[in-house]
Amino acid sequence: MGRDPRFDILFEPVRIGPVTARNRFYQVPHCNGMGYRDPTALATMRGIKAEGGWAVVCTEQVEIHYSSEITPFIELRLWDDRDIPALARMADAVHRHDALAGIELCYNGMNGSNLWSREVPMGPAHLPVATFTYDPVQARAMTKRDIANLRRWHRAAALRAKRAEFDIVYVYAGHALGGLHHFLSRRYNDRTDEYGGSLENRLRLLREVIEDTVEAVGDRSAVAVRVTVDELVGDDGLTRAEMEDAFGLVGELPDLWDLVLGSWEDDSRTSRFAEEGFQEPFVAGFKKLTTKPVVGVGRFTSPDAMVRQVQAGILDLIGCARPSIADPHLPRKVEEGRIEDVRECIGCNICVSGDFTQSPIRCTQNPSMGEEWRRGWHPERIRPRASEANVLIVGAGPAGLEAAMMLGRRGYEVALAEAGRELGGRVVREARLPGLAAWRRVADYRTGQLVRMPGVASFLGSPLSADDILAFGFSHIAIATGARWRRDGVGRLHTRPIAIDGAMEVLDPDQLMAGKRPRGRDVVLFDDDHYYLGGVLAELLVTLGCRVRLVTAAARVSDWTWNTMEQHRIQARLLELGVVIDANRGLQRVLADSVEVACRYTGRTEAIGCDCVVLVTARLPDDALCQALLAREADWADAGIAQVEAIGDALAPATIAHAVYSGRRYAEDFDRPAHDGDTLPFRREIVELAHPAPSAPLADVRMPPAVVTPG
Ligand code: ADP
Ligand code: SF4
Repeated sequence: MGRDPRFDILFEPVRIGPVTARNRFYQVPHCNGMGYRDPTALATMRGIKAEGGWAVVCTEQVEIHYSSEITPFIELRLWDDRDIPALARMADAVHRHDALAGIELCYNGMNGSNLWSREVPMGPAHLPVATFTYDPVQARAMTKRDIANLRRWHRAAALRAKRAEFDIVYVYAGHALGGLHHFLSRRYNDRTDEYGGSLENRLRLLREVIEDTVEAVGDRSAVAVRVTVDELVGDDGLTRAEMEDAFGLVGELPDLWDLVLGSWEDDSRTSRFAEEGFQEPFVAGFKKLTTKPVVGVGRFTSPDAMVRQVQAGILDLIGCARPSIADPHLPRKVEEGRIEDVRECIGCNICVSGDFTQSPIRCTQNPSMGEEWRRGWHPERIRPRASEANVLIVGAGPAGLEAAMMLGRRGYEVALAEAGRELGGRVVREARLPGLAAWRRVADYRTGQLVRMPGVASFLGSPLSADDILAFGFSHIAIATGARWRRDGVGRLHTRPIAIDGAMEVLDPDQLMAGKRPRGRDVVLFDDDHYYLGGVLAELLVTLGCRVRLVTAAARVSDWTWNTMEQHRIQARLLELGVVIDANRGLQRVLADSVEVACRYTGRTEAIGCDCVVLVTARLPDDALCQALLAREADWADAGIAQVEAIGDALAPATIAHAVYSGRRYAEDFDRPAHDGDTLPFRREIVELAHPAPSAPLADVRMPPAVVTPG
């Protein structure tokens, strides 16, 4: 089947300075937690995107100089020539599939503390570094000499990028990550020299760096500039009006404009807080201010939405980070007329958490993300079956669905039995909660694939017992029966059940999701889970007319969502809804008409009157079936059973991303010989040891002079 002609426009080539993108699908720079530590894994991941049809595949941010590095985050480095081979490996992987390789050169400036190099960070002004972690470090105001150095360093990095054969070289002045952003914005730049004050002055360094870069690499590579179109802080920072004026001054200098909104957390909002394409009103109109092509993002997964961006004259190139993570082969699927095969991003930002936790990227929808080289997983392909085994999967949550789909792709005969009336398990239950509708896509994609697989049969309304399973004759059994929320208070704070008076109504998240409602109005919700669910259920309870008090042992609500860049939005939403937030407090006991909470620091207790207590603390695997089968191991041989394994939440409750990963892993591994962890089941890259000191040569130079005043 060929592509739908209404998407033809997406496959038009776009000229970008000296190079041409073969279509409009553009993977904008995105972090991935692999960076300089895992260069081959990174190159393989990017190469698979090029294979999937993206015309441009970019790096994440690349530190251009040791005086600006962002430890503990793991990005790429181009500090000197020795960094070129790792970058070249990625460019090569991208070129192998006829895509253009882009590199985002970055001088973070006051956005990094230089924890590794211990250099003094530099920015336009003397200000504390703007890191996520409030590091007790200040950046110093750059002197003219520093500025000249920075220009030279950037030029040298651009030349190295050219040697690594990158086709598009970025100048990064966006997201308050690229240090040139700090020069542009009045929030950070209070200089009184020709690099501060008027817009023209604040723009001067960006102009110079663009000109330097074009001069250095423009013969072979396009120069892209990434800027923030609005800092979203009003007149305190960069406004749209100022950026429009900036386009009047430098709009024709680069070969491509990459437009972003605010800081990274403003731009990459979760689906709970922003729709597909929400940036449009901010980005629309800039294209008219330049003759150069424009790329922008919007968590675009719908080709119709992409077409509209081009036809409405908003964007020339459809920028995607998350949609390219969830489906590295998205463009190819559109081209081949296989829209229904697109694995749509759900906007959960689990991918971002990889970067925030300095661990290789993971994705809820695409379990192969980050595993392309480590485990040899591919987003679309899996090795064919290795035996005549047939598989029964019990439970059709994310783990069961993924296992069934991937085993089906391998060519195995699979039966998927689900006790409930629909496929999807926790995903469909949670997707009915406020703000989580897009999460249904995890189930929708897989159920859509399964119905077209002749070897996979799904059975709804089929609660299975051990007797049923022993009678069926399947050789392999995967137990994917999920988990249940506890109602005894056990979690992180209390590892033993707490005292609960039977007169108080106590509900757990499963009961709320099943439609049970509190009898009274005043509800205390104790969140000792710290991911999204406590906050989401508080929101649900408010919409049901309850007065909600959220007690959390952490300092912030939904504390782990810091890693998905939405904690501040969740807290703001709950406060707006009138939820009373009791942070740093633990729920000690449940009494007949109140709860006792204790300050985590002083231990001081207080009674809070309420009608109902909701406990969001921890889960227990729903593994009774698994245990029952294990107890009958003696009967397996007669029943033809070779193997029984628990996967997903039935093994150990965690995120939906973990469950999907667990399902994929089961499908990959179940016909491999068992091993007990004596051999590594993945590849890893080990650094080459340096020559031991003192023979290692050290450059006989000192650091740039530390002049303390600009001038
Ligand atoms: P996971 O996240 O690990 O995939 P879920 O809780 O989302 O787990 O899904 C588990 C699914 O298993 C649920 O839909 C549940 O109805 C189903 N299930 C639980 N026990 C049985 C059983 N004995 N037979 C069939 N299905 C079951
Ligand atoms: Fe999208 Fe979530 Fe995957 Fe990120 S982790 S790409 S937000 S589905």
